Amino acid sequence: MAVCEILSVGTEILLGDILNTNSRYLSVELSKLGISVLRHTTVGDNHKRLAAALKTALERSDIVIATGGLGPTADDITRDVCCEVMGFEMRMSDEIADGIRNYFATKGYEMPESNLRQAYVPVGGDVFENHNGTAPGLGLKKDGKCVVILPGPPYEMAPMYKEYVVPYLSEYSDGAIVSHTVRTMGIGESAMAEQCADLLEQENPTVAPYAKKGEALLRVTAKAHSESEAEELCKPVIEEIKSRLGGYVYGIDSASIEERVVELLKEKKMTIATAESCTAGYIPKRITDIPGASSVFGYGAITYSNEVKQQILGVKEETLRKYGAVSEQTAREMAAGIRRVSGADIGISVTGIAGPGSDGTDKPVGLCYIALDAADKQVCEKIETGRSDREYNRYVNSSRALNLARIYLEGKKI
Ligand code: ATP
Repeated sequence: MAVCEILSVGTEILLGDILNTNSRYLSVELSKLGISVLRHTTVGDNHKRLAAALKTALERSDIVIATGGLGPTADDITRDVCCEVMGFEMRMSDEIADGIRNYFATKGYEMPESNLRQAYVPVGGDVFENHNGTAPGLGLKKDGKCVVILPGPPYEMAPMYKEYVVPYLSEYSDGAIVSHTVRTMGIGESAMAEQCADLLEQENPTVAPYAKKGEALLRVTAKAHSESEAEELCKPVIEEIKSRLGGYVYGIDSASIEERVVELLKEKKMTIATAESCTAGYIPKRITDIPGASSVFGYGAITYSNEVKQQILGVKEETLRKYGAVSEQTAREMAAGIRRVSGADIGISVTGIAGPGSDGTDKPVGLCYIALDAADKQVCEKIETGRSDREYNRYVNSSRALNLARIYLEGKKI
């Protein structure tokens, strides 16, 4: 299998001014070609250090993809350094120079002379057109090694990669790797892994569990001669996982729990309202992050104090006195109350102890009750995260509340 390294060029990345999303993008895409990415390296705009990093990468790998530093200014050195290290001469391409002049003319700007630096191309190398900017990308192949140079801005780099670099690297590709993530909520990572223990042992596709902010995930990765064959290998395994984990599975790949809830509400033409104590607005924030949420959500109340729980939601004084604000009884009355005052089809509520300190009772930090109230269902879930991290508890409790709505809307068992 061909091996590749990604070399990101830019002092901005080293300083933390920008996030290196190009490396992530390229790693994901290269794996689809069956090319293994061995290392990500980042260097500043420094001639010596860039040359050293490139030489070292070429000693280890067949392919190096460099991004950034193709601009017109003196600190944009990637083109010169890569050609120097690979032993390619540079010459000005009249065609590219005209293209750059044209680009500025159609935008109505005057072209700074320095932009013509971008018209220098390696003699015997390959040039990739830039349809979204001025700097062309370059390809250098020599003695079994390949260096690809791409512009830094992601909106220039990614289309250029798709259009030119994928076919340029075809001789190195020995098949495709496809990966999908099964996302679950409400089951712990180890319980999930236990239910899929035999699947975790298999080779192709591999199944790997991991946990992320209150979610347990399984990554299914297959390798085959083509992307479609790899997809075919993944499919039955994903179906098997879904059937074993049932209602815990809320999505495949990137769909978030809030996206799923909004989608289901729209599908069923239903509305939801929220009453929150410890999460204090988290759930409406997440729901309204989804475009078009206004058709399913119109009412969210933050009822932090006991007085407001009584005044707005009609929680009984006796309930609060007898069981406390963080209790199943209060959560249920909050959910029923918000459904009543909002007129929504579903009311959900959250009341808990986010931490880091306790609420002065003997209830543990991280304890939370989430209730759902609908015409045909009233249910309450108790959650104990066992953690005193306020941010974590608030996020996870909001996720679990959304998940309770998702399970109800999917008609799954609660
Ligand atoms: P330009 O012609 O715009 O100067 P360039 O090829 O010289 O492009 P850089 O100057 O290195 O690229 O970076 C330009 C911009 O591209 C950065 O300010 C940043 O917004 C983005 N960029 C560069 N490298 C990366 C990266 N690795 N990941 C994400 N964004 C990046």
